[in-house]
Amino acid sequence: MYSIDEAYKLFEDAINGNRRAIGKLLTLVESPTAEYIPLLQDIISRSGNAHIIGITGVPGAGKSTLISRLITELRKKNYRIAVIAIDPSSPFTSGAFLGDRLRMQKHATDENVFIRSLASRGLKGGLSLATLLTLETFDALGYDKIIIETVGAGQVDVDVFFAAMTILVVTLPAAGDEIQALKAGLMEIGDIYVVNKADKLDADEAYQQLKFALEAGELHHKKGWKPKVIKASAVTGLGMKEIVESLDEHFHFLKETSELKKSVYSRREHLTRVLLYWFVEREIDKRLESTSDILEQVKRGEKDPITAAIEAYKRMFQFGGEI
Ligand code: GDP
Repeated sequence: MYSIDEAYKLFEDAINGNRRAIGKLLTLVESPTAEYIPLLQDIISRSGNAHIIGITGVPGAGKSTLISRLITELRKKNYRIAVIAIDPSSPFTSGAFLGDRLRMQKHATDENVFIRSLASRGLKGGLSLATLLTLETFDALGYDKIIIETVGAGQVDVDVFFAAMTILVVTLPAAGDEIQALKAGLMEIGDIYVVNKADKLDADEAYQQLKFALEAGELHHKKGWKPKVIKASAVTGLGMKEIVESLDEHFHFLKETSELKKSVYSRREHLTRVLLYWFVEREIDKRLESTSDILEQVKRGEKDPITAAIEAYKRMFQFGGEI
């Protein structure tokens, strides 16, 4: 636990590029306490310049392999890169997740690449807050490109879609995958679609179909941007240059059309909502003590949980209305 002065020192060292300080600062913002609120405010006041890229797609599509390749390609342009990888926290995927980490490991010694994984375990309903504050922190520290990797399901994805300025959807040439992607609602959100594994599978048909869907206007055009479709292989490196060019082109487009500012503000509006939940949750924790008699009654089988929760809520918040 750091004092607020120590936390500010961490922030200063992190700005100067000290990796240990960056790591500690990120741990601090992942599960913030109220005393750090002024620091969070300072962090946010310095953010708003980074290009935030959300990368999504069904599991196995090749997201983490692709990200590792993209880091190499983006580094050629001298960008400082941060990656936020989100663990869906399932015991079944944690093995695969470790694989992701290993795949990206080769960038671990690069001073200008910082990879952070967020596991929702232990964050007690705070994964959204942790994700958004991690993002703000990387942005404030001057990272040029912040990549958020997500699985295409759940609340965290909603956060990512709010926060990301460019959404890259990774798909596979197999027909089954397209159906999966459609089901996951991924086929209308992308700014860039990557048909991956073109080395192994016949990507032409999927590529043509996506192109056709775009031309026909089935995939919506976001405010004047016509989504791109790129054939790629995260294994051979096919298409990587084109993806990086498209990412830059989209960022440029956002700047030109003032969509960039709008995106920063809408992500802050979303953060405001998430902060409100955090405040209320803290308040519930604080006030829970005052309702212990009601909880006891449930425990003894004397009261049903719904009646009890309503009663406790009314007492905690001195709420006189209908629930
Ligand atoms: P994720 O679940 O979307 O992150 O997918 P991964 O990056 O973990 O990749 C899943 C599997 O597909 C791994 O075995 C990768 O080596 C493999 N893979 C990823 N991209 C490609 C590609 O372009 N070509 C081939 N042949 N295999 C790939």
